[in-house]
Amino acid sequence: MLALAACTSTPKPGQPWVVTQLEAPATGPRVLGVYAHPDDETSAAAILYKTRAHLGGVCDLLLITNGEGGFKYSTLAEDLYEAELTDESVGRALLPEIRRDEFLEGCALMQIRAAYFLEQTDHRYSTDPEEVLASDAGVWDLDRIEDALVERMTLGRYDFILTLAPTPQTHGHHQAATILALRAAARLPADQRPALLCARQETADGAPDPPAILAGYPETALAAGAPPLIFDRTQPFGHRGRLDYRVLVNWVIAAHKSQGTMQLAMSRGLRTHLFLFALSPPGSAAAAEAWLAGLAQPQFTPREYSSSAGTNASSSTPIQ
Ligand SMILES: [Zn+2]
Repeated sequence: MLALAACTSTPKPGQPWVVTQLEAPATGPRVLGVYAHPDDETSAAAILYKTRAHLGGVCDLLLITNGEGGFKYSTLAEDLYEAELTDESVGRALLPEIRRDEFLEGCALMQIRAAYFLEQTDHRYSTDPEEVLASDAGVWDLDRIEDALVERMTLGRYDFILTLAPTPQTHGHHQAATILALRAAARLPADQRPALLCARQETADGAPDPPAILAGYPETALAAGAPPLIFDRTQPFGHRGRLDYRVLVNWVIAAHKSQGTMQLAMSRGLRTHLFLFALSPPGSAAAAEAWLAGLAQPQFTPREYSSSAGTNASSSTPIQ
């Protein structure tokens, strides 16, 4: 049973928030998600959950910004938090703590072990990563971020790093977070470097293309010839296979109540496509394939119910 209350224990400054106390050492994959904003982790929510709950792995998350730039869509959360969050000055003042707590609630649902916050400024929406990555940008402390990433990757001995795909259409912070993770990993000796992957979602509109190399950022090249890696959120389980992993993803999305547009993403992602970066060490493709094969296994043993459960073998109608 998870200790959700663990989220409420405030660590010393600079120390991680321990979300889940692991009762035994990890026996499965060790995974670190590196993201710019609280709610970016929803892209991998089911993968992280199942890696821990089914494969006995351990998953940590590292967040670069406080997410205070998300004030614009906080309309319905204003009553909840009793503050005019859509006013920029109010939102920027209050959202760092609100969004941290929302994020930690989601972390507990995914059985994340520890969350690391670098508390950089979420300055504004732009699709230009140079707004934070330029040497004279002065928005993020780039040296501190890269050093923190190197330290975390070194101490955590992760098998896999998960990021968002650095496409030119996405938020510049998303692109920058992935680029910084790649640069940090490149500083590690190849035999200590984790495999690096980015995620894109398949929806009813279709499957995503592999992200093209981002102009000006050669580190974003994908590994040539790597097999497709797909996590199917719609793999059925539970009574008559009526449940799937979108439920878990939706729980994590729901935790981010200050982010209105994120709520409308519920159930949209059907399959998560993971793409391997070329910087990954030898053997990464096979290791990632084995991880995804484990994640495709059934997690739950179906139960048999008698008529006392209000169901019968011939009925296909959901019981209310
Ligand atoms: Zn984001």
